[in-house]
Amino acid sequence: MKGIHYKGIGNTKLTPIDFCGKTWGWMLETEQGFLAEPKETEPTTGEHDFNTCEGCQNTRKELIKRLTEKFNGTEQKQGFPFCCSHHSNLTKVKEFNRASFVSVPEMVADKIIYTNQHITNNHENENYYKDITDYIDYTVESFGQMPNGCGGALFIGDYFFYVTDLLTRNTEISKERKNRLLEFLEAHQTPPTKNKNTDLNILLGTYQKWLKTFPFDISFFAELKPHFEKQLPILNGKPETNKYTGLAKGKMHTKGSLIDVLLNLTKNLLDKVNVPELRKQGAITDIQANQLEFAEAELNTKTAEITKQYSKGELKYVKTLKKWLQLHKDYFKEVAPLLKALPPQQTTTENDNIKYTAKHYVLGYLIECNAKGESFPIGQKKELEKIGNRIMGAGKGNRFYKVFNEIVNKDLNIENNLIEIGGENWRTIVKDLSNEPETIETYLQNKQL
Ligand SMILES: [Zn+2]
Ligand SMILES: [Zn+2]
Repeated sequence: MKGIHYKGIGNTKLTPIDFCGKTWGWMLETEQGFLAEPKETEPTTGEHDFNTCEGCQNTRKELIKRLTEKFNGTEQKQGFPFCCSHHSNLTKVKEFNRASFVSVPEMVADKIIYTNQHITNNHENENYYKDITDYIDYTVESFGQMPNGCGGALFIGDYFFYVTDLLTRNTEISKERKNRLLEFLEAHQTPPTKNKNTDLNILLGTYQKWLKTFPFDISFFAELKPHFEKQLPILNGKPETNKYTGLAKGKMHTKGSLIDVLLNLTKNLLDKVNVPELRKQGAITDIQANQLEFAEAELNTKTAEITKQYSKGELKYVKTLKKWLQLHKDYFKEVAPLLKALPPQQTTTENDNIKYTAKHYVLGYLIECNAKGESFPIGQKKELEKIGNRIMGAGKGNRFYKVFNEIVNKDLNIENNLIEIGGENWRTIVKDLSNEPETIETYLQNKQL
């Protein structure tokens, strides 16, 4: 399709699109709107080919016959543009030229056949929704536009009527996908000026209901609440480039497509919270508080299910939530007594975590004596036991004495020996055990250790 040419009729101005006190976008408005003449569309190819399908060819012929009759008029009913009071106004627009519309009956018959074929060939794709609605948007755009007060694009109502009819009768497409597409077609048909606010209100209501249902009171979700409270996802995804028109445009949600998004959002949010993992990381400190939160959330969800009117689609996220809450309630129930049976975690200072051995005490004693230039009582059991009792604690003197004898003959000027006795951290430990760590440090440095 070549680009549609919009002719502004009368004076033009920019006007804001407002909703709930907020401007969502700007619209170029003209005194008498735009006139854009319709263009042909290109069919897409796939397994089903209307060229060789007898059914499609017969439908096409019948459509051309009906639409041509409508265009030309019959004895009972006048043709275009005198078909209705709206289109009759076209005769007052100097830019209007009936000759530009003569091929519309055949063109629209083709558009119906092409759209039906596109749905038939693509409804099983993963991206079926975007692909098919892109194609419908592209086709709708090809219909052009009439100036204000001059009715809808010619035969656009017929396009929707027949596409809807063919889709309704399609038995190959899944029920769910069929409904989603029918909803899209229906939302597209309602005159935008008349139903825009209602549509937004429906979307707003649908979203608010979800906001109230999702268990944001559970502390893991609490900080997400303000984020979701502030937004209203009215667009079905980011403005994306339409595959067929090449234009980036945001698609309005229908109630159904918004609910699909909310179901996925629910699943994603729940997925992010891994309670057993959080417990292992120590992030769950008050299991009773969590138990209470989950129990209350479950009650809220179950109450909401009774008091609020959920549609079939909405019930899917309610069910998902209920299941998730139940699983976690069970988990806490099982885990709480186990956690209570554990002794309370010890709060220890860093030093308390290091276990000093007798070897450390002996090494520290020997190095300190050397640093101070003091001699130690080699071979004097009682004297050594006394020293051991003093620095290692009462009753440990004999152990000190024995270890002293093991170590005393080793050369403490060789670093490897020090590591062998006191481990990699011998230096820190020896200084920690001493009342004069500076003296020891200076001594060791002089010894080039
Ligand atoms: Zn066919
Ligand atoms: Zn008309």
